[in-house]
Amino acid sequence: MGVIERYSELLPVTEKTPRITLGEGNTPLVRVGNVSDMLGIDLWAKLEGCNPSGSFKDRGMVMAVAKALEDGAKALVCASTGNTSASAAAYAAAAGVPCYVLLPAGKVALGKLAQALMYGAAVIAVRGNFDKALEMARAAAEREGFAIVNSVNPYRLWGQRSGAWEICEVLGKAPDWHAIPVGNAGNISAYWAGYKQYKELGKINTLPRMMGFQAAGAAPLVTGKPCPNPETVATAIRIGNPVSAHLAKEAVKESGGEFNSVTDDEILAAQHILSSNGGIFAEPASCAPLAGLIKLKKEGRLPQGITAVMILTGNGLKDPDTAMSQVGRPVEIGDSLEELLEVMKG
Ligand SMILES: *Cc1c(COP(=O)(O)O)cnc(C)c1O
Repeated sequence: MGVIERYSELLPVTEKTPRITLGEGNTPLVRVGNVSDMLGIDLWAKLEGCNPSGSFKDRGMVMAVAKALEDGAKALVCASTGNTSASAAAYAAAAGVPCYVLLPAGKVALGKLAQALMYGAAVIAVRGNFDKALEMARAAAEREGFAIVNSVNPYRLWGQRSGAWEICEVLGKAPDWHAIPVGNAGNISAYWAGYKQYKELGKINTLPRMMGFQAAGAAPLVTGKPCPNPETVATAIRIGNPVSAHLAKEAVKESGGEFNSVTDDEILAAQHILSSNGGIFAEPASCAPLAGLIKLKKEGRLPQGITAVMILTGNGLKDPDTAMSQVGRPVEIGDSLEELLEVMKG
């Protein structure tokens, strides 16, 4: 059962909304034992890389596409740092509707580009950054009457609330801290809305602190002003002027949370720790929260013993180039056992 069917009573769907699904949602929430011990907290990871196109974007995309179909849209359009395009292209392919995706030229991780092309979207590389591509996508959608499926589309945030509901169902409560990477700032806003909705329904008693983590080179919510030339290895959060900034600020303020930034080196170190000590391979942007928790621990600002959930927004396989730049190459040997045993001794 997908997000729409599972949560139809909590979402703005009607009988006419098509119950499309690629099996999104219901992703694992896994306790990361080794890293919990290292940080002195109870740390859980929400494996959003297990969604059908490999990122959390599928939760919102299924809603946005279903609503676009319900409204008779002729085509979908989006701008993307990569994962939105992969997700939009997948659901468009399944629904049989054309999809145009605008990407910042040369700044999209290889796996994501391969996905958008394989799913058969019209892929257009814009010589400019994401913020510019989004401006163009919105203008084109308006001119042509196409459905825009970026997170400016309110149905995206509705579907993304489902992540919060699943966490509460597994933990039996909300976590103390909710740690999440922030790019265009839709996801942090959606999670906060989801937690609040569950509290209003009496399904949970407490709300988490919303802890948003940005890359130091693309940290408009930390510095308090738009960043004209965002730059970071975490391409999924390489965004200088977040569309949902106002909602994200509200979420952080209301929840008593914080925005923090982490450097690319800290992000890559966290990615390596999570893979090699946790057995979980997440893409760089997804590792900003862990980098942030490690940083706060070093600064003595991580309350000990709390329950924290970090959202691992996308699968590590999406960005093989960044991963390969961090690790050695395999040792190559001939086909003799002696040589193998020699190498195994190290
Ligand atoms: C889209 C994305 C983000 C950022 O989410 P926002 O809702 O734009 O803040 C973070 N990580 C990954 C892997 C993403 O694809």
